[in-house]
Amino acid sequence: MSAVKDLIGQAVDRLGDELEALSRQIHDNPELAYQEVKAAGWLSDFLAQQGFKVERGVAGVETAFRGTIETGQGPTIAILCEYDALPQIGHACGHNVIATAGAGAGAALAAVRERLPKGRIQVIGTPAEEGGGGKVKLIQGGVFRDVDAAMMIHGFDRWILHQDLLGIVRVGFEFSGKAAHASADPWEGVNALDAVIQTFNNVSMLRQQMRPDARIHGIVTHGGAAPNIIPEMAACTFYVRAAKLDYMWELHRRVVACAEGAARATGCTLSTIDKEAPYEPLKRNDTLLDLFRANMQAVGAQELPAPDRLGSSDIGNVSQVIPAIQPMVQIAPSGTPIHSRAFEAAAVTPLARQGMCQAAKTMAMTTYDLLADPGLVKRARAEFDART
Ligand SMILES: [Zn+2]
Ligand SMILES: [Zn+2]
Repeated sequence: MSAVKDLIGQAVDRLGDELEALSRQIHDNPELAYQEVKAAGWLSDFLAQQGFKVERGVAGVETAFRGTIETGQGPTIAILCEYDALPQIGHACGHNVIATAGAGAGAALAAVRERLPKGRIQVIGTPAEEGGGGKVKLIQGGVFRDVDAAMMIHGFDRWILHQDLLGIVRVGFEFSGKAAHASADPWEGVNALDAVIQTFNNVSMLRQQMRPDARIHGIVTHGGAAPNIIPEMAACTFYVRAAKLDYMWELHRRVVACAEGAARATGCTLSTIDKEAPYEPLKRNDTLLDLFRANMQAVGAQELPAPDRLGSSDIGNVSQVIPAIQPMVQIAPSGTPIHSRAFEAAAVTPLARQGMCQAAKTMAMTTYDLLADPGLVKRARAEFDART
């Protein structure tokens, strides 16, 4: 390993106690989407102490931040932090570790600043991953416009280099009909609940022709007021998920067509409501992953195969605009599911500290590799452009 990488490792080890304390502080003060005032403040303070120029509140998002270190004309590499918690079960997704691994990587690079090749390092605080799509707002606000490559890690029960993430688009359907007495003069009514039921039936038929890695799941959110009234209004919400962006939107179009057909068949009028920003699938980048893997092995972490369970995250949206990766880092004993109380407890154990420090080192070393050889940044971009 190069001398600079040795120094990066030593810097993280030196900061280990401080990073662990910061991780625990965020963990013990869970804040929900867009309310992460304390976490964003503590992380910004920490980065400022390490020599970063810190902007608090970027792209009009109060709990987003951006710390920058510039050593000259060269590529811009971003390391992303998440720090939002879940309702009721706190940091059961371990975002306290994502935050401190990212801040720790930035701090280690700041510590070797004099020896860094020319370029720009940004540690970007991205709120509201668990709902609200913080990264989507930051993309729209231009935060990633000048970034050449981005990386972050996520806590898990083992080390995985790449885990596919499904894109998700959430759509609501509201059907309007006409109320009437359901027994005395039902022929006067137009039944909005029938349109909801027909939508579900249409989607059920569509499902047989779907690709196996896509998912459609829905609930009825409004089904009428009383059985003796023909429902004049009924509504449902569907989530449509797929591994490829084109296919996600194709399925979305077909689900909307299912609802339109149901409206036509029942004589209802339909309004389609877009719920939240879509989360896009994670676009793989092997150029970045290969660098990450080599550094991960150098810090003693062992990669395991990815399970076939599939979730969604707004890092997917970032990976659709620039090369970006999100390896999984072991912070909990094998078999501990995320979003569980056991995972929340694990996120502040010595195992979590070890994963956080190894992840901080790996991300800092990978950033160093990219700055040291801008040809790698170009290669990551070429791969990004070539992959759908
Ligand atoms: Zn989560
Ligand atoms: Zn998470």
